Amino acid sequence: MTPYPVTHAVDADGVGWIVFDDPAARANVFSAPVLAALRHALDALAASPPRALVVTSAKDRIFIAGADLHWMERLPDPATAAAVSREGQALFQRLADFPAPVVAAIHGAAAGGGLELALACHWRIASDAAATQIGLPEVGIGCIPGWGGTARLPRLIGAQAALDHLLKARLLPAPEALAAGMVDEIVPAAGLKARARAAALRLAGGPPPPRTPPPLAPPAWFEELRRTTTARTHRHVPAATAVIDLVAAGADQPLAEALARESESFGRIMTGAVCRNLIHGFFVRDAAKKRSLAPWFPADTPAAAVRKVGVVGAGVMGSGIAQWCAARGLQVVMRDVQPAFVERGLGVIRGLFDEAVKRRLMSANDATSGLARVATTTAWDGFSDCDLVIEAIVENVAAKQQLFSELAAVVRPDTLLASNTSALPIEELAGHVPHPGRTLGLHFFNPVSRMALVELIVGRHTTAAAAAAGLAFAKALGKSPVICRSSPGFLVTRVLFFYLNEACRLWEEGVPTEVIDAALHAWGWPMGPMRLIDEVGVDVTDFIFGEMEHYFPGRFARTAICSRLLAAGLKGRKNGASSGFYAYEGRKEVLNPIVAGLTEPGRAPEKAPAIVDRLMGVMIAEAQRCLDEGVVKAPDDVDFALLAGAGFPGFRGGLMRYAATKAQQA
Ligand code: NAD
Repeated sequence: MTPYPVTHAVDADGVGWIVFDDPAARANVFSAPVLAALRHALDALAASPPRALVVTSAKDRIFIAGADLHWMERLPDPATAAAVSREGQALFQRLADFPAPVVAAIHGAAAGGGLELALACHWRIASDAAATQIGLPEVGIGCIPGWGGTARLPRLIGAQAALDHLLKARLLPAPEALAAGMVDEIVPAAGLKARARAAALRLAGGPPPPRTPPPLAPPAWFEELRRTTTARTHRHVPAATAVIDLVAAGADQPLAEALARESESFGRIMTGAVCRNLIHGFFVRDAAKKRSLAPWFPADTPAAAVRKVGVVGAGVMGSGIAQWCAARGLQVVMRDVQPAFVERGLGVIRGLFDEAVKRRLMSANDATSGLARVATTTAWDGFSDCDLVIEAIVENVAAKQQLFSELAAVVRPDTLLASNTSALPIEELAGHVPHPGRTLGLHFFNPVSRMALVELIVGRHTTAAAAAAGLAFAKALGKSPVICRSSPGFLVTRVLFFYLNEACRLWEEGVPTEVIDAALHAWGWPMGPMRLIDEVGVDVTDFIFGEMEHYFPGRFARTAICSRLLAAGLKGRKNGASSGFYAYEGRKEVLNPIVAGLTEPGRAPEKAPAIVDRLMGVMIAEAQRCLDEGVVKAPDDVDFALLAGAGFPGFRGGLMRYAATKAQQA
């Protein structure tokens, strides 16, 4: 007999058990067959009701991780999606209406539909294991809970608290879920089943647990939340305002009405373009986390372990990389040329550990031992036994070549040599070391502690073994790599700086800073291109423009405005500099009046759609060239890299997905 994803039994105490354990998958997720299996279990138990019922999972780390997104993504139209919502709601309602008390015993992730099922039960017990994470993350992928979450959660914990969770779309560890009122008890994992049985029997023998109805929120509160949420999402993500509308309208209505409204809204939003785009983003992120070497090299190439890392350069990137490696348990030695530079880098590392403790990402003890794993030097002490060295010195080809030669003389012949260069082809450095097969690029993004993307650069010399070790290292750091063939600017720098250069050209044609930035910001970028240049540094931008001009002669027509800003002493916002296209005072920014004097009188401002089309057109064309040249292998790699490395607006799915949509509409 095919084992069922949901099984049921009645134990010697007369307690019924419904157990989720999909034999075909590592996780329990809802799909049409799983819903059918739950219905089957409920039918069987309802025919001869037990004294009480416990719903649980037999997986190690998962209660129920939500619904199968591949299924959801393929729901063809709003009516079908709304019907799926009604079907799940009706099934969960059978738990709420079950003739005996129902207890959810949660160990592992109870996300989305998993929590919605638990919310329909009469009592919720969670294990205190770290794997137990509870919440409704749907809004994060542009969707809304469709199986009762928007109706039941506010009834349990109040509209204000429920909306806070729905909009933050975060999974909570069990103690936080308990404090929030989402679960009723937490217990050590080993005692979960016994405690669930005891609670079931206790509830079977007495009245239902008393629950005080939470207070209603005043209409003005919803209004204010709608205003701030719309401002934050630029009206681009309908799910965010939809959950506010549902909770506001449903709070004092009968449950059935709130559920009906939820289904209608779910159908519309689930099948809308924004939700599909955000789900695409989820898929490409997931694929990047699981990246293998194929099709670049055989996927099963053995990877040598990296235990000790040398970092050369204790600047912005070097100190960030050193801290992240040490935080992940690696031994690190960091070098710079002067004690003061090493000290400054160490100060940055200390600050990053302090911040991680403050944000509760790490215990104070772990931070102390992490910091202790970082040794420093102004010579080459401690480099001879490194498995990998990453250089993050100034972006200068001669300096990097000289460094690679020096380095090769002090490390083992099999030590991997990586550069964090933003743009230089790795061959330019590989030619300067013996055994060049061990050279590769590991392009981290700033700030290292927050950016998931690493471009793994494979040069002409790079061996499969070196690439395998680099990939395993990036993944062990918790980063999501994209593999790129070595070529100037790789993927993200190249695409981004063609775009920034085109923005500068528009500016030189007379379109004002604020008009360009407003157009791209309203389109969904976290900031417009001129503001981004300030953030990257006018000096860095101008330097990379120079590199691009050098490597793409005739195609990259370098603009001059950044050089003119630099000549006027305007470096942007980096390293204490406080003026570029804008002038900054703390968190306040205003247009920099000096910049206005650097150009001809403006022509009639372009309309926002024309600005967006032109700049995004340049970006798409360059990304397509990268694909055509084999710099990256798949449009999904471009989508992921720009989402994770450049802040591409998630609700648009990704650069190449956006390009494909535009092409279809044309
Ligand atoms: P930075 O100027 O902040 O730091 C460079 C450090 O290298 C300085 O402290 C300098 O003293 C040191 N240095 C120079 N020569 C050295 C040598 N021979 N040995 C040891 N130390 C030496 O630069 P950064 O912003 O950290 O950039 C470093 C590299 O990373 C560059 O190649 C850059 O293109 C790349 N990168 C930068 C960013 C970014 O956002 N800053 C992002 C990705 C990649």
